[in-house]
Amino acid sequence: MIRFEHVTRRYPPGMEALADVSFSMKPGELALIGGHSGAGKSTLLKLIAAIEKPTSGTVLVNGQNVGALKRAAIPYLRRNLGLVFQDQKLMFDRNAFENVMLPLSIAGFPPREAAKRVRAALDKVGLLEREKALPIALSGGEQQRLAIARAVVCRPAILLADEPTAHLDPDTARDVAEIFRDFHQVGVTLLIATYDDALFAEFASQRLTLNHGRLLA
Ligand code: ADP
Repeated sequence: MIRFEHVTRRYPPGMEALADVSFSMKPGELALIGGHSGAGKSTLLKLIAAIEKPTSGTVLVNGQNVGALKRAAIPYLRRNLGLVFQDQKLMFDRNAFENVMLPLSIAGFPPREAAKRVRAALDKVGLLEREKALPIALSGGEQQRLAIARAVVCRPAILLADEPTAHLDPDTARDVAEIFRDFHQVGVTLLIATYDDALFAEFASQRLTLNHGRLLA
């Protein structure tokens, strides 16, 4: 489902964020990506979502070479991917419902079907009662759950998360991890960059560790 073949991502001037990385994931697998800050974890996730392109090597998602996709094809790739990334911020002038609705509006969903899906996604992360709340009125854990609802509202087969439990207290982090476990149980393929290995270890089938851009054996 996801396959890296000798992938290198170099940033000028000559800095290798990822160096000769190869691995593969089967559908429904949950893989953790660990490693120090700056090890290349975010870069790896961004290559899957075609936010970055490999300098060399091949990134395959469902057999598609995402590094070679034309610009116009990228929205179709992304529709199948849920992203919970640090830099995909919530819209602070829109309420919880509207934040989750946004990807469906962009995809051109009929409003009534969209509203149903938004409520289903909010329900899944335990925020149905908070649909009218602005993000600022939500706790850090609730904001993270809202970001997850937005990421999954298009029902992606693959969910990518970059440090989804960072800055959360241990109880809240555990709640967020449980949401990911639920998606894992219904067959979503998950790739999670985290320092919190212990939170996800029991259901992870693969642990990738990066060190200065290189995958440790
Ligand atoms: P991690 O997520 O493990 O902290 P990153 O993938 O964010 O690591 O970064 C890996 C390395 O690539 C770091 O040294 C970082 O400074 C560098 N890097 C990441 N993005 C860019 C960019 N857009 N331009 C230049 N260097 C970058």
